[in-house]
Amino acid sequence: MPREEEERLVMSSFREEDEQESSLRPHTLTEYVGQEAVKESLNIYIQAARQRREPLDHILLYGPPGLGKTTLAGIVAAEMGQNIRVTSGPAIERAGDLASMLTNLSSGDVLFIDEIHRLSHAVEEVLYPAMEDFALDIMIGKGPSARSLRLDLPKFTLIGATTRAGSLSAPLRDRFGILYRLQMYSTEELMKIVYHSAGVLNIRYDDEGVREIARRSRGTPRIVNRLLKRVRDYAQVRGDGVITLQMAREALNLLDVDDLGLDRVDRSILNAMMTKFEGRPVGLDTLAATTGEDAVTIEDVVEPYLMQLGFIMRTPRGRICTQAAYKHMKIAMPKEAAARSEGQLSMLE
Ligand code: ADP
Repeated sequence: MPREEEERLVMSSFREEDEQESSLRPHTLTEYVGQEAVKESLNIYIQAARQRREPLDHILLYGPPGLGKTTLAGIVAAEMGQNIRVTSGPAIERAGDLASMLTNLSSGDVLFIDEIHRLSHAVEEVLYPAMEDFALDIMIGKGPSARSLRLDLPKFTLIGATTRAGSLSAPLRDRFGILYRLQMYSTEELMKIVYHSAGVLNIRYDDEGVREIARRSRGTPRIVNRLLKRVRDYAQVRGDGVITLQMAREALNLLDVDDLGLDRVDRSILNAMMTKFEGRPVGLDTLAATTGEDAVTIEDVVEPYLMQLGFIMRTPRGRICTQAAYKHMKIAMPKEAAARSEGQLSMLE
């Protein structure tokens, strides 16, 4: 892992230190914090499918990393009383890999494919009849004598997870019966997650300390758990082990996580947009090249939170920063940029 990334605590993608995650993962829909609308409808579909003794329809979950897609897939399988097989788009290299995975499923199993937008076209082709008809089409022989043979598969539920629903091909997206976009979590919801994790990890805290960690965690459960562990270390060495408001503040400042949960990378991106481009709309690739950050990271991890905060807006000509972002960065907003952002806002209204 490059040093830059190693230092970046508020990245929401999975890191080795998150391995303990499984002990912090909720196992039932009731324990799963937040995402109320998703939970309510899932609960109905699960009950209905169980009553009919049928597998659940295929589900697509999308949203930034660390919001609980993998966790939710595990919960769905558990609530259906079925096993889950976990894989990911990049791990399935050839069509044959997927075919053997599908033939090894048992009836009712849940197959979870993370980063499903990264499946190759050839692999996707295998998935279509599997999802639609629970069938596998295989070609036997080559040339003019080749013929296709259809094999029946056990009825299974596919749960796909992606950070970007837009990158999924339309035929694949259309084969999912249930689509959910996971939302970022509120401070109160993240506090609930911290209380639970602190219980599991035996960490002492007060409410204000917990609130501070939750507030600075970019609405993301994975980050809140990660910051909790770092603040625990700080409180153990610099204090008496209890996570208080002061301990949380000092630790998070030391980690360069600011009041709103922005870190060095977020700030360097905002800074580039405000100073180097002087508030003009910037395209993703230009922004990536200027800041040295990966375009996918900017789009999947940095931008969703900055948009959630109302700090940046996407316009047809590129991204622009809003007045609120300039205020947070304590940089004066150029007049033209102000006019542009107002124009955008009025277009949206
Ligand atoms: P994703 O698959 O979206 O990247 P994960 O499901 O791996 O995210 O979630 C990361 C971690 O965050 C999990 O291990 C779990 O501890 C925690 N988590 C995620 N969502 C929730 C939730 N709704 N309630 C409680 N903890 C959660």
